[in-house]
Amino acid sequence: MEKKDENGKLLVKNGSNTHGVPMPWRGQMVTMRQGPTDPTVLRRAIEQMIEADINWLVIEVERGLRYDSHPKVSADWALSKETLVELLDAARRGGIQCVPLLPSLSHTGYIAEAYPKTAEASCVCPRRELTQKILDDLSDELLELFEPTFFHIGHDEMVSAFPEHDRISSLQCPLCRGDNAAEWFRDSIMCRYDYLKSRGIVTMMWADMLLDPEFFLRSSLWHGATQDFNGGPPDHFERALDDLPRDIVMCDWHYKSSCKYPSLRYLQDKGFDVLGCPKTSIQDNAYLFTRYAHRTRTPNLLGMLGTNWSEINRETEEILLEDIKENGFVFGGGDRPDLRGKALSAETRRFAEGPFDYTFDFAGDGRQILEAAWYKSFAVNRFSVPGIGLTAGRKGKLCLPFFGMPDCNFERLEIEIRTDNKWPGAGRTGISVDGGRSFTYKPLQKNTDWSDVVAGYSRILWLFEVCNEKEQPAGQHRRTAYAKCLESVTMRGNLGRRVKSNE
Ligand SMILES: [Zn+2]
Repeated sequence: MEKKDENGKLLVKNGSNTHGVPMPWRGQMVTMRQGPTDPTVLRRAIEQMIEADINWLVIEVERGLRYDSHPKVSADWALSKETLVELLDAARRGGIQCVPLLPSLSHTGYIAEAYPKTAEASCVCPRRELTQKILDDLSDELLELFEPTFFHIGHDEMVSAFPEHDRISSLQCPLCRGDNAAEWFRDSIMCRYDYLKSRGIVTMMWADMLLDPEFFLRSSLWHGATQDFNGGPPDHFERALDDLPRDIVMCDWHYKSSCKYPSLRYLQDKGFDVLGCPKTSIQDNAYLFTRYAHRTRTPNLLGMLGTNWSEINRETEEILLEDIKENGFVFGGGDRPDLRGKALSAETRRFAEGPFDYTFDFAGDGRQILEAAWYKSFAVNRFSVPGIGLTAGRKGKLCLPFFGMPDCNFERLEIEIRTDNKWPGAGRTGISVDGGRSFTYKPLQKNTDWSDVVAGYSRILWLFEVCNEKEQPAGQHRRTAYAKCLESVTMRGNLGRRVKSNE
């Protein structure tokens, strides 16, 4: 369906992915925690939301409001309740529903600093009565101002450190240390859920702690940052997911341009209502995420919630207003930002228009591949192989898994390899599909077309095998091992939606 604006300008082309269909939830999230909020700027942002047909506004309040019950929690620059209510009224008059966001486990320094007795390692201890009492009191005040039907409890980035190798358990206070971490996380959610449910309010939360990085990074055409998936060791909070009530709304945030956002569909398939949450200032993040959301949507997709994490003042105003316009356009069924006169990056064009062309550059020490461009942790975890010196007659093997997703099977695939030409013997490459153990082999050459083998499958395992013919001088094997010889692998092809029906 073609869609034009009132001036006849083309907004949606025939055959686009959204078909001009607006998302039911067209949300904008802003934060008052970063510093003094300029109410005039927030007022103009709300007017922009009304104009852009945004219908939900999520405000992270945190320390940014003058609370009566716990004034110590508020920053000295916090807004008065009167000012906030005026702003909320303006939004409501414009047809926007307002949702408070109160960080209730992670990012709770604002409570722990005021009440040191509540502190856990990097958050408040959810098991202390005082913690829940303070959260109840602050929430009571927010309910009075917002009169909301939804309430966002945060619960994102509940980790002791980035990157993940440096993490220790989040359970560090004497009450909690050594307990089952997934139960601890679930209990913390349920404290807030029960409070809200008894008042007829729906709980919303960030989903990142409930996503296993290993599981999602297996999708090797994924381009997101690992910080988007914050489950995993040491606490494995993602194990709490199956035990959570399905009337919690999961806010699935990914702040990167990518061709796919697979956790969005995963959470819907788990039975949750889900919002896709891009960071709109990142080029084409909102567009690509919304496009993916449309293509993979189930009835559990509520819509989209664009996030903006800046202070709200005159310096940030221009970007905030631009974010809101973009969100209104994209969430409202406008298809491509370039139809709004905005240039698409080459990368976005590639994601949006199908064919992929990804090069994995390897760096190794002769015994193992230490990193591959784009997938540093993926490479270390997945590609590390024990020291295999290629002594005579010995084969060296390297298996690289590549996963499309269920809706994105391979249609065409060529694999090009680049080597340092120093490997000592013969070789071959092979591919197995969908977890099968049998490989189809082809002779080792620079470019191999695998389309005949992979078409219609979503999971492939690519095998690179070299066989040494000569004995290496002592101490030299490291330099000739295959992990050093292989410099890069480039995959080119298309993903399609065809599903092989042989199961
Ligand atoms: Zn504790």
